[in-house]
Amino acid sequence: MSHATNITALRSDFPILAERVNGQPLTYLDSAATTQKPAAVIAAIADYYRHDNANVHRAAHALADRATAAFEEARRKVQKLLGAQRAHEIIFTRGTTESINLVAQSHGGHRLRAGDEILVTELEHHSNIVPWQLVAARKGAKVLAVRVTANGEIDLDDLDSKIGERTRIVAVGHASNALGTINPVDEIVRRAHDAGAVVLIDGAQATAHLDIDVAALDVDFYAISGHKAYGPTGIGALYGKESLLESMPPWQGGGEMIETVTIEHTTFNRLPFKFEAGTPHIAGAIGFGAAIDYLAAIDAQALANHEATLLRLVTDRLAQTEGVRLIGTARDKVSIVSFLLDGQHPHDVATLLDQQGVAVRSGHHCAMPLMQRLGIPGTVRASLGLYNSPADVDRLVRAVEKTRALLT
Ligand SMILES: *Cc1c(COP(=O)(O)O)cnc(C)c1O
Repeated sequence: MSHATNITALRSDFPILAERVNGQPLTYLDSAATTQKPAAVIAAIADYYRHDNANVHRAAHALADRATAAFEEARRKVQKLLGAQRAHEIIFTRGTTESINLVAQSHGGHRLRAGDEILVTELEHHSNIVPWQLVAARKGAKVLAVRVTANGEIDLDDLDSKIGERTRIVAVGHASNALGTINPVDEIVRRAHDAGAVVLIDGAQATAHLDIDVAALDVDFYAISGHKAYGPTGIGALYGKESLLESMPPWQGGGEMIETVTIEHTTFNRLPFKFEAGTPHIAGAIGFGAAIDYLAAIDAQALANHEATLLRLVTDRLAQTEGVRLIGTARDKVSIVSFLLDGQHPHDVATLLDQQGVAVRSGHHCAMPLMQRLGIPGTVRASLGLYNSPADVDRLVRAVEKTRALLT
């Protein structure tokens, strides 16, 4: 599988896509919730348990050496994926949620003072809102949100009016899981830094679709999840600038994160281990590394073209479908479409689509403030991955048409 340009052929790398659901072939359109996993990732995890399993960084035996080498190699793969300058700027976590909680509790808990402000946006996933509320309540700080326009873009004028000398942290998604909007993160980083704030980017929806370069972006923290980018669940990473990570206190105590311990006092391990208390998800990290290798072997331009073509197709077809109202029509989007059908509840629509073999997501997509802003209870969301094809779009549109006939 070297530099595949025939993206359509990659579908067969994903064994689960041969499953039948409700007596139908599967059309999987829920990759924004979690992507399916290629055989190479599944094999990497199984191979690790079959051949190399041991705890990392401690024991002096051959398996421990192999496990440690594979785990640290996975870290270097994440480093390369994100464009970080140093491997120890990559902290393994359970995923985007844990990465953001780490920054909120450690950096926020250490630095925030009463009256300080944390700026998020109305577009954020709950994972990029609630951790900030928790630390804000503890420190007497405040969480403010930048407004989103009716078509689902961040209002940069509102950002300018809300960013100020009290702003300590700006936390914003790279791409919206609910609408697909790609945010102008370079511009946001620049404006936040001009105001003296540090910036965290929630990259959960960017990893599978966009080029990420934390060094070029000059971003302070970047959070990702393996499972949103063809890797396993339960593993993700936090990139943090070395100087910031060095200045932050540990957030969880335990094995691995220490240097010396007495009953009275502990000195802490160096980066990245200071933030990795306990036995890590070794198999998960290795599977994540295999997913990064899998993506890296695909021609990036061909993949971008494939997804852009599918997004255009699904957007145009749904826009022409009677009763469909598209929600979120930003100019720059990853391959996600949200819509409503004739005032029907999104859950009813999704249930009927499922009966026709089409797996979509319905509801608020962990973005209740956004739904409140748009004045809707939720949406039906179709999110496409590299394994989807025009045939999947066609099956979705036909199933939506049939659903409309059944419901009205
Ligand atoms: C999925 C997602 C998260 C949360 O990721 P977890 O893997 O569940 O921790 C956060 N933000 C966005 C934009 C997401 O799509």
